Amino acid sequence: MNINTNRPVLSTQVAKKAAPQKEAAAAPAASAPSSPAESASLSSVPTRIANVNTAAVAEVANKYEGAEVVPGELIVKMNGAAENNLMGDFASEYGAKVIEKFDLPEGVFKSIGGDMLRLKLPAGIDVFEAVAAMGEDNRVAYAEPNEVITLDEVQTTPPQQDGKQDSGEAGEPNDLDEKLWGLKNTGQTGGKADADVSAVDAWKVTKGDGSENGPLIAVIDTGIDYNHPDLKNNMWTNPGEIPGDGIDNDNNGVVDDIHGYYPGQDSGDPMDGHSHGTHCAGTIAAEGNNGEGVTGVMQDARLMAVKIFSDSGRTTAADIVKGINYTTKMGADITSNSWGGGGRSEAIRDAFASNDALHVIAAGNSNYDNDKRDNFPSNYNLDNIVAVAATNHDDQKASFSQWGATTVDVAAPGRNIWSTVPTSKGSYGNKSGTSMATPHVSGGAGLIMSAYPEASNEEVKARLIYGSDRVDALKDRSVSDGRVNFAASLENDQVAPGAPNDFWPGETTSRGTELRWTSVGDDKWANGPAQGVELFISDKPLDGENLADAKAVGLGGGDEVGDLATFKYDVLPSESERTVHFGMQSVDNAANRSELRTTSVTIPAADAALKDDFDGQTVSFNATGDFKAVEVEGRGKVFSSATDSTTAEESNLTSPVIDLTEKTGAFLKFDAETSLYWGERANVQVSSDGGENWTTVERMDRRSDWSERGIDLSSYDGESIQVRFQMDSREGRRTNGMSIDNVVLLTDKA
Ligand code: CA
Ligand code: CA
Repeated sequence: MNINTNRPVLSTQVAKKAAPQKEAAAAPAASAPSSPAESASLSSVPTRIANVNTAAVAEVANKYEGAEVVPGELIVKMNGAAENNLMGDFASEYGAKVIEKFDLPEGVFKSIGGDMLRLKLPAGIDVFEAVAAMGEDNRVAYAEPNEVITLDEVQTTPPQQDGKQDSGEAGEPNDLDEKLWGLKNTGQTGGKADADVSAVDAWKVTKGDGSENGPLIAVIDTGIDYNHPDLKNNMWTNPGEIPGDGIDNDNNGVVDDIHGYYPGQDSGDPMDGHSHGTHCAGTIAAEGNNGEGVTGVMQDARLMAVKIFSDSGRTTAADIVKGINYTTKMGADITSNSWGGGGRSEAIRDAFASNDALHVIAAGNSNYDNDKRDNFPSNYNLDNIVAVAATNHDDQKASFSQWGATTVDVAAPGRNIWSTVPTSKGSYGNKSGTSMATPHVSGGAGLIMSAYPEASNEEVKARLIYGSDRVDALKDRSVSDGRVNFAASLENDQVAPGAPNDFWPGETTSRGTELRWTSVGDDKWANGPAQGVELFISDKPLDGENLADAKAVGLGGGDEVGDLATFKYDVLPSESERTVHFGMQSVDNAANRSELRTTSVTIPAADAALKDDFDGQTVSFNATGDFKAVEVEGRGKVFSSATDSTTAEESNLTSPVIDLTEKTGAFLKFDAETSLYWGERANVQVSSDGGENWTTVERMDRRSDWSERGIDLSSYDGESIQVRFQMDSREGRRTNGMSIDNVVLLTDKA
């Protein structure tokens, strides 16, 4: 799409100035982000970059520590439209040139509020310095390096099985290979019967819809072998494009894009030379019942190939944005994203946010909790993202799979998955990963959209989540607490479940309350328990009209009708009393909702045993080492250990003695910001023996913005304690350290 149309913007003058910096760039010191002045002689560095705040550069460098970026490239979103002439002026102030103005589809510009540019810096100018400098430029909404992302693949050994076909029961497709345990699991691979997506029962409702009325599914991956005998009939064909005439007939910015797009080569040919994308495509929709190979979750479908990865499995943030924008422009209903990695990218988030397709995204293969550590793109907080964890043939979480009770939505088969690969690579093969779980869910979403073309994204997502079979081993691995079951998700059930009965708050303290209710049936009180409940939390009384403004939490219901279910609602204690309003409704497998039940609780106020915002005449804390009181805009005075050169290995900010002898429910609250280098530590410690011995009650994150923190210290109830904030650093080093404000120690009211 229109690469290089805005190329000639670099003024000759700037080009000449920039040229001598090439030598500096070759020196190792040039890449050290903390010393911008050394990276190039000041006379040749544009003023905006020469004047950049070193702390801001260090922050950017910290964020991208360990990341691979395209040398010298930036993605910049402007505030508003970038006129061609002004765009060049803007770039040249940074010594840069515009190498691309992203072709934003109609609606996307409006939705994100500005043009997106790709800039190239001259050699010798550090990308992180330019990003930091643009952070101060009010024409810029955001700037980020063009990060390189590599395909995250799980290495597995092929299953020891021959390729025989399933004997095939009546009504089953003739290519339901026995290795397809994810679709039909009778224990044939040594796993657990029915630990599958219930494809055979789902096909009794629909086998998919490959007509132009059916959903258009974009596989954003390494491309697809669109000539594969088991895929070619399920490929989308661009109706506005004439093959091979070298003309962009439909004027969408891509020449001869018959089956999709390859942004990395600005090409309309997304042929897969890797195999990952073809494998994903086959799981979604290898043609069913054609006597060939395998069947996908959908037997009949329309697949669009968006090849963001090269054949060696590499891509950049810029190509990802262009790939997603293409699916927006061409009206995809589902995007299937078996990829991830890299840091948070506002440009990639904007591309997903401005596309109203359902985005099915892999949870990642590094076996960690995405609630605790972000995985992108699956963790972008968008209603139309469905994040997918992987299961094995025993209905356990696959060992590699990441999970998240709130950040992952569903789990699906993803270990030892048999599917199509390019004919040049043997036509069929075995792979593992959340990459393989994701296309199962994309196919399931496609079946739901085929059967219910009017269903909203919200309904399709709820059917996927609440249609899942709850599995004990998968509890808290995803919102669904289970593994997808497309037969249940497809049920044409119009009967709303009963509302949760006896919804009431239990014991309530300054720390929160326990909500209780009894489970009801799927159809009113009949047909087994409802699949789950949705809990809404708000500071305003809730009715059916204002649920969208409330915070929503999905919860599993009880196992049997009449079972008591509970949910612990925790809050940070506060010196003022608060009323919290709750709403709850049951949801069944077909996303039908019950009537709303509501209740309210008053969270009692807590007493402050110690309180210091550091803004008074005298401060109750004792500061040693690098801790100093400094002014921060909007906060007044705070204590910060940031310094150009540490004076001590240990700096402490220590409270006076706090008497808790008659107190209960001790709880420490404070505001903090941290920016630590490797080897540095920021601790919160408590002493109950007059400062002789200190226990670390919390080690703070290496990097965090100002936010309110809370630590339960009720284990010190009845004692006299001191609290201190401790910064460990290496003597003589520069550090941004930790900053502390608004410390308060709360206890239950006497
Ligand atoms: Ca075209
Ligand atoms: Ca087939």
